[in-house]
Amino acid sequence: MLAKTRERMGEHYTANQVLGRTQTIGCVAVEITQRCNLDCTLCYLSEHSQSVKDIPIDEVFKRLDEVLAHYGEGTHVQITGGDPTLRKHSELIEIVRYASDIGLYPALFTNGIAATRTLLENLAAVGLQDVAFHVDTTQRRAGYQTEMDLNVIRKDYIARAQGLGLMVVFNTTVHEGNFHHIPNLVRFFIAQSAEIGLVSFQLQAETGRGEWGSRDALITQQSMKKQIETGSARTLPWGVVDFGHSDCHSYMPTTVVNNRVFPVIGERTLFGHFLSHFEHIRTDRHATSFQVLMDYGLALLKRPRSWWPAVSYAVGQLRQMGKHLLLGRGQVNKLSFFMQNFMDANELVQERVDACSFMVMTAEGPVSMCEHNAKRDDFILKPLVVEKQDGSTEHYVPIPEMPSYRKASGAN
Ligand code: SF4
Repeated sequence: MLAKTRERMGEHYTANQVLGRTQTIGCVAVEITQRCNLDCTLCYLSEHSQSVKDIPIDEVFKRLDEVLAHYGEGTHVQITGGDPTLRKHSELIEIVRYASDIGLYPALFTNGIAATRTLLENLAAVGLQDVAFHVDTTQRRAGYQTEMDLNVIRKDYIARAQGLGLMVVFNTTVHEGNFHHIPNLVRFFIAQSAEIGLVSFQLQAETGRGEWGSRDALITQQSMKKQIETGSARTLPWGVVDFGHSDCHSYMPTTVVNNRVFPVIGERTLFGHFLSHFEHIRTDRHATSFQVLMDYGLALLKRPRSWWPAVSYAVGQLRQMGKHLLLGRGQVNKLSFFMQNFMDANELVQERVDACSFMVMTAEGPVSMCEHNAKRDDFILKPLVVEKQDGSTEHYVPIPEMPSYRKASGAN
């Protein structure tokens, strides 16, 4: 599977490329409903989405099996929609349980409105790993004008997930109206880094039913990096870790000590060596600290020449952290920044689609997220014949009252 990823990445399989070495794919979305309880100004859903019946649960299980078959165990799978919490909660729990049981790492992607503490507890109990909350000003939540106003909601969501062992992620769509607030938002996330693992920024894209269209020239990957740096009060070494296509994603893993941000790794060559020497080692949070230490210890014993650069880099990092380690009482939090540069629906670049690291599992197999959003109706309005676990079949018609789909499916 890794070899297949390497082939697919083509020229983007650089010495610093994570995909094809430690991971077969970034993540795969499985959309379990098309419905949502919000109507964001930059929503990727289709105008038909709200009327589409949820796909049968056996079809969801089949798509999860396909994720496993294509990308292997340990693949990060987004249980998403629409908003997945609108699906019957007993079914949502079964879906997360199934994903976890077959060896995938399920994450719930939600606007949080219906993600109650009880629901999160139940999902954590059956294997949910991450919860990603989408909160931003595109949602036009009544009474919240700015991104800073929305921090009340973000804090409430953090409290709901606290102590459940879930990694908390926040998704923010970046548009002209909140671009200048990003540094303040980054400061908020840094202050909450004990509870948040990842913050992801999606740059405005013209796709789906969203009414705002394409982004202002002000918003670029470069200008967003500057905004994150302003909020972090430091220059960050972007471009060290390659994650998929460089026009699509930027990834910056950091540690936060006493509210100060320190990049985890700042040298491209060193990271390239690190990857080539240790690509067989899982370093994500699913591996225990003991396991990671043992694995690295053994690997370093076999490659003593790797010692010096790694140790000297670690000593340099500790020196930089210096007094902040003392002031922060030794508390070191992981906080990663991620940026997604989704494409406009009418401007898909095939090379980026081919090297995509963020797929959607459809009835026909995995499709790049940008391509899926651009042609969403082609996928979600298709009738399906679903094989059920008891051996019978179910004819699924997305919108029964649509004559053309009734005809295509043979439904009465
Ligand atoms: S962007 Fe997400 S939260 Fe907003 S309406 Fe669409 S599915 Fe719902």
